[in-house]
Amino acid sequence: MIRAYKFLMRPTVGQTQALGEMLRDHCALYNGALQERRDAYRHVSRTSIKYRQQSAQLKEIRAFDPECQGRWSFSSQQATLRRLDKAFAAFFRRVKSGDTPGYPRFRGVNRFDTVDFPKDGDGCRWDSTPHDRTTRVRFQGVGHVKVNQHRPVVGKVRTVGVKREGKRWYVILTAEQAEPEPLSPTGSVIGIDMGIANFLADSNGEFVPNPRHGRQAAAKLESAQQALSRFPRVRRDRRTKNHQKAVQRVGDLHRKVRRQRLDHAHKTALDLVRAHDLIAHEDLRIRNMVKAPAPKPDPDRPGAFLPNGAAAKAGLNKSINDAGWGVFLTILTSKAESAGREVIAVDPRNTSRTCPKCGHVAAENRPSQDIFHCVSCGHRAHADTVGAINVLRAGLVRRDARQG
Ligand SMILES: [Zn+2]
Repeated sequence: MIRAYKFLMRPTVGQTQALGEMLRDHCALYNGALQERRDAYRHVSRTSIKYRQQSAQLKEIRAFDPECQGRWSFSSQQATLRRLDKAFAAFFRRVKSGDTPGYPRFRGVNRFDTVDFPKDGDGCRWDSTPHDRTTRVRFQGVGHVKVNQHRPVVGKVRTVGVKREGKRWYVILTAEQAEPEPLSPTGSVIGIDMGIANFLADSNGEFVPNPRHGRQAAAKLESAQQALSRFPRVRRDRRTKNHQKAVQRVGDLHRKVRRQRLDHAHKTALDLVRAHDLIAHEDLRIRNMVKAPAPKPDPDRPGAFLPNGAAAKAGLNKSINDAGWGVFLTILTSKAESAGREVIAVDPRNTSRTCPKCGHVAAENRPSQDIFHCVSCGHRAHADTVGAINVLRAGLVRRDARQG
């Protein structure tokens, strides 16, 4: 099983410059190779140049240009030529199928953001200072760059990549992991209901709270965004020092919130997968369609709609939550898969208004956000627990239908 990892790098000033030059030179190589293919294609002979021929010239190019092209890893340069080859293969494939695709284009140096190293140890070395507490990755021509390794890398590292995103530099790894042993069955099944007050409620009446610092960080993010919105919209290079700081702060807080959510999601998913053979959850796609606030028609202007208060109020918290649940379910599904557990998505319609005791379905069963109180039999419970129980039931029905 191949897994990808992405870590922020902390290059020194000198390393940052070298990384920039590495991208610049790989970009020049890409464009040069593209030029050569263009010229050949336009020539009356319609010669086509292949990757093999271009790769064979690399040695010479490096010898001619020791200051630039000669500095970098041979293998990473081959990877760049191969990337061009792929662009051409896609182009010709589309021509063949009758499309009129655009001819592969030259890349501006700001649009060229990645360099690939096809093999760890060849022009690069992941964890190049294993005795040091700080993780580093070494790149030929750049040196040992510090890495923010926020989680462990499992298995053997195969490929290494450098990626620039704005002012940040990332190292991208792929590692090959042995197939995990499926966990032994526990005989337990569970349903979960993802909420706002709590991250989720389960069908056993337990709750998983939201990440401890999540709300605090979200509040800070909101005020940082407000602060940012007070600056005029101007081009990046015309922003004042304070404006730049405000932009930076919003970005930092976004990343912080995202990281906290991610850690929390991993932990929650792991607990569920360890303890249960089957986990049923609401299908988020259906839920978003069903639970979106209905538009209010404007009584004064037929055909027009009033601004929808519910949507505005839900605002930031809702969008963070929605994104968080999506990420959580992706993590849950992948962990369950490798552990041999079953995850079932069910239609969430009526899960919050069906009585688990008597089966009575009514919107009035849920007098408030938290409370479930059946108008038929009088059953009382936390509304999210009821939702989770109904989700589990629907999940078991689906599983039995599938097996039967
Ligand atoms: Zn009832």
